[in-house]
Amino acid sequence: MKKLLPPTLQSFSDLLFPRSCLGCNQYLNFHEVALCLRCQIELPQTHFHQIHNNPVFKKLKLLFSLEAASAAFTFQKEGRIAHLIHRFKYNGNHQCGIILAHYLANTLNESVFFEKIEGIIPVPLHPSRERKRDFNQAEIIGKILSKKLGIPHFTKVLIRSKKTRALAHIGEEARWTEIKDAFKVNSSSINLPKHLLLIDDVITTGATLNACADALKKNSSIKLSIAALACRL
Ligand SMILES: [Zn+2]
Repeated sequence: MKKLLPPTLQSFSDLLFPRSCLGCNQYLNFHEVALCLRCQIELPQTHFHQIHNNPVFKKLKLLFSLEAASAAFTFQKEGRIAHLIHRFKYNGNHQCGIILAHYLANTLNESVFFEKIEGIIPVPLHPSRERKRDFNQAEIIGKILSKKLGIPHFTKVLIRSKKTRALAHIGEEARWTEIKDAFKVNSSSINLPKHLLLIDDVITTGATLNACADALKKNSSIKLSIAALACRL
């Protein structure tokens, strides 16, 4: 995240080059970074990192075995989080994703349920989609978490081998068929740590995470935990 200048210099700089809030576009005060105070207060935080059997964990444990799961925010259509994640993923505004990833990292750092994580794996995009978008949003989140939690980030382990349609635009039932067998583990990925944290931007049905878990758990006895910026409940 961009650092603030000393207060007097920041006030002066804001007069010449006003900065606006990523959430609501209002001008920022000299002491605010990226989000205004009102947006910060109104972010719909879940506090799921404090509850082991939280709604995200309950949803995912019906699909595959896992150790812990959390999402920092609830995702509401047209809400602030939806706006920030849209700007991040589709308008390429990395700062929007980075600020939310910092919030997520802080929650995981406070949680007793994520203490034993040994490695971070981002949900991969298909190479053709990543080329088109120019970045993988889960990888940017993973990079922040890795730095703030002090845990290695493995970006080449999980591969998206099947090109799927954009899951956000197809029905819930079709997602499961579309994403099935879409991921593979890179055969050269030996000596992986035993407890991995799989990262995504938004948890919706859990279909993508389930397909990733299938690939990661095939022929391996790894333990899996899950974290995302937001969840739709
Ligand atoms: Zn704001």
